[in-house]
Amino acid sequence: MSAHEHPLGISFEFFPPNTEAGHEKLMRTRDALAARRPRFFSVTYGAGGSTQHRTLNTVRAVRESGFTTAPHLSCIGSEKAALRDLLVQYREEGIDSLVALRGDLPSGMGGVGELRYANELVEFIREETGDHFEIAVAAYPESHPQAPSFDRDLENFARKMKAGADLAITQYFFTADAYFHFVERARALGVEAPIVPGIMPITNYTKLARFSDACGAEIPRWIRKQLEAYGDDSAAIAAFGEEVISRLCQRLLDGGAPGLHFYTLNQAEPTLKVLDNISA
Ligand code: FAD
Repeated sequence: MSAHEHPLGISFEFFPPNTEAGHEKLMRTRDALAARRPRFFSVTYGAGGSTQHRTLNTVRAVRESGFTTAPHLSCIGSEKAALRDLLVQYREEGIDSLVALRGDLPSGMGGVGELRYANELVEFIREETGDHFEIAVAAYPESHPQAPSFDRDLENFARKMKAGADLAITQYFFTADAYFHFVERARALGVEAPIVPGIMPITNYTKLARFSDACGAEIPRWIRKQLEAYGDDSAAIAAFGEEVISRLCQRLLDGGAPGLHFYTLNQAEPTLKVLDNISA
C-alpha cells in the first residue's frame, strides 16, 4: 500500500459515461472521491466488449487523478485473440489492475465465446501476462442468480480464486450476516485472499428494485416497505438510505471486513456521506 492510500482499502466503481455532460460530471465525482485516497477506482465494461473504447477512455481520464484505476473485463461473447489484444494494450498503457468477470450476454447477442466462466478468464490472464495484473473477481454472498445451489456457487467461487485472483469484491447486499457467513464458508474452502464487501448507496427506490431483481440482491422487507412509503420524496429516501448503509458499513468493518468497494453510479455525494458517518 502506498503512503497516500486510504488505510481502510476503500475503492470506488464508475461506469463509462456516454455523453460529454456525463463525462464532465464523472470528472467532478472522481476529484471529490480522490480526496478520500482510495486504494483504487474501477470502471465497468459492457457485455461482449460493447463499451471497450469507452471503458479505456474513462480509465485514462480517471487515472489522471494519480490513483490506480482498474478496468473491468468480461469474457463472455469474446474470443481469446480479442482479449489478448486488450491485455497487451492495457499493459502498454501502464494499467496493472483488473476486475475479471464472466459478464452477461444480452439475449440475442452472439455466442458464448471461448471462455465460459470467470475462472477461465483468470487462468487466461495469468497464462498471458503472469503476475503483471492484480486481479479482482466477483463474489456473491447471497448466491449468484444462476447458481444451482449456494454450495455449488461457493465451490465455483473458490475455484476462481485459486485460478489466480488476488482479491474478491462482492455483489451488493443489505444483510451483514450474509457477508460474514460467505467469508467464513470461503475460508473453510481455503480462500485466504481479501473479500471486500460491495456497497450500493441507496438513492432511488425504483432503480434499486430493478437492479436487485436482475442481480439477485435481496432488499429486506423492512427496507423495501420504508422506501416504498417515501414515494417520490427523494430527500427522505436519501436520508434513510444514508442511515441504513452507514450502519451496514460500520457493522462490516467492526466485523473484520478488509475494506469497502462503493458502487457509486458516478455520484460522489451518497458515498461521501456514508464515509463521513463511519470510522475505521
Ligand atoms: P462466474 O464466476 O463465471 O459465475 C457465473 C455463474 O456460473 C455462477 O452461477 C457460478 O456459480 C457459475 N460458475 C462459475 N464457474 C463455473 C464453472 N467453472 N463451471 C460451472 N459453473 C460455473 N458485469 C458486466 O457486464 N460488466 C462489469 O463491469 C461488471 N462488473 C461487476 C463487478 C462486480 C464487483 C460484480 C459483483 C459483478 C459485476 N458484473 C459486471 C456482473 C457479472 O458480470 C455478472 O454477475 C455475471 O452474471 C457473473 O459474472 P462472474 O464473473 O461472477 O461469473
